[in-house]
Amino acid sequence: MFSQTIEEPARQVPLYGEYEAVILGGGPAGIAAAVAAARCGRRTLLIERYGFLGGMGTAAGVTNFCGLHANVFGEMHRVVQGIASELLARIDRLGGLNAPHLILGKILAQAYDTAAYKIAADDLLAAHNVDILFHALGAGVVMHGARRINALMLETKAGRQAVRAGIFIDCSGDGDLAAWAGARHEVGDNAGSMLYPSMMFRLNGIDPEKAGDAWRTIPALMEQAEAAGTHHFPRKAAIVRPQRSQIEWRVNFTQLAREDGTAINGLEPDDLTRGEIDGRRQALHAFNFLRTVPGFEKSYVVDLPPQLGIRETRRVVGGYMLSGEDVLDCARFEDSIGVNGWPMESHVAGDVIFKFPPIPQSRGFNELPYRMLIPEGIDNLLVAGRCASMTHDGQSAARVSGACFAMGEAAGTAAALALDGNASPRELAVARLQARLKEEGVFIGRDQPVPEGV
Ligand SMILES: Cc1cc2nc3c(=O)[nH]c(=O)nc-3n(C[C@H](O)[C@H](O)[C@H](O)COP(=O)(O)OP(=O)(O)OC[C@H]3O[C@@H](n4cnc5c(N)ncnc54)[C@H](O)[C@@H]3O)c2cc1C
Repeated sequence: MFSQTIEEPARQVPLYGEYEAVILGGGPAGIAAAVAAARCGRRTLLIERYGFLGGMGTAAGVTNFCGLHANVFGEMHRVVQGIASELLARIDRLGGLNAPHLILGKILAQAYDTAAYKIAADDLLAAHNVDILFHALGAGVVMHGARRINALMLETKAGRQAVRAGIFIDCSGDGDLAAWAGARHEVGDNAGSMLYPSMMFRLNGIDPEKAGDAWRTIPALMEQAEAAGTHHFPRKAAIVRPQRSQIEWRVNFTQLAREDGTAINGLEPDDLTRGEIDGRRQALHAFNFLRTVPGFEKSYVVDLPPQLGIRETRRVVGGYMLSGEDVLDCARFEDSIGVNGWPMESHVAGDVIFKFPPIPQSRGFNELPYRMLIPEGIDNLLVAGRCASMTHDGQSAARVSGACFAMGEAAGTAAALALDGNASPRELAVARLQARLKEEGVFIGRDQPVPEGV
């Protein structure tokens, strides 16, 4: 019998650097966390496995910001401000930002160009003196006792390296760093499945006049095609919408499952491999159908993104888990650090189910408590973004970009303030954090007037 494990000899690992704040993952949460920590004067390093920033927003071809806005008593407001506004302004200056558009007639989203997002994010981080390390995969931690992370271990083209920090912020989306440090977490729906992933893609060569508002007619055309037996689609509720240039449309159409019908698990290499290949196959199938839609006859696939879009894997358990009820009830929290205006958006088998707070009777957004960012059991770690402390239902809403920017900005600011006071993030006086965030233009709910405009 062969052993199922290999013993790796112990070795000395070179230290890449020693920082005050180290952020793992350069998605919306990581971008905002890094800028926030550096803006407070902290020596900050952002580590990203790819060669560009944006997370799922670029690497998985999402190309659309949700959760920046809320439907406040029937009126649209952009409730996520702060660092997100700085990034949006830079994308806009590059000509890469759409005007906000209505989704389901109830809420706004805002499409962007991925190339502009990547360049704008580089520029934003440079402007705030954030050090970046691209092409570095976080691979483990070395602890100092049970509660403190001593170093984050990286795999790079130069081999294995280590990075030390006073405070680490896990913005990996998958809670990698928190899990390696031993933080308690949940995975998906805790019953073997999770929000289903999708392979996004974009089409070019569309005739905008002929296509018109095709996003309204495509669902009915899909039903007809299924009834006629010409096509079978893995999910209803496909989203096919124009980008800034109206000849280019994004396609959010696919749903990736294992053989037993549960969602592809973004933590399992074999699942990811199957998901990438099936995802491209589904994209081709969707494209063949879309070419039958008026205006799409001459379209072609201009982009299949670098990776499958993963919506949910680990959710770290922190001082509070934001729930689906909190989203639907527009919950308030004493320790609010930002807000989420996106509804519950559950990607279940074969469908996508939206649940909104009452419109127009409610204020349409919930507050995000600071406790969501503080994992149990580890003293020098914060977690922000889609792997923060939320239930499966709560995460279906607050996983989108808007709330991730808000959580990231709060986590980076909290790290800097905690370092100032030589305290752990858990010991930080929340009122100080809230005051600082408000000074930086963040809307945290509570007693503030809702920001005007979209
Ligand atoms: C198909 C799909 C469609 C979506 N549609 C929308 C939409 O229209 N609008 C919207 O706002 N949101 C949408 N979302 C959700 C949104 O994109 C994500 O939830 C959001 O990007 C999460 O941000 P984050 O910063 O927490 O994590 P992520 O965006 O996942 O970023 C994590 C980053 O960490 C890096 N990373 C991960 N692990 C490591 C490691 N070990 N070492 C180094 N780097 C690592 C990754 O490469 C990535 O850059 C969609 C998601 C999917 C999958």
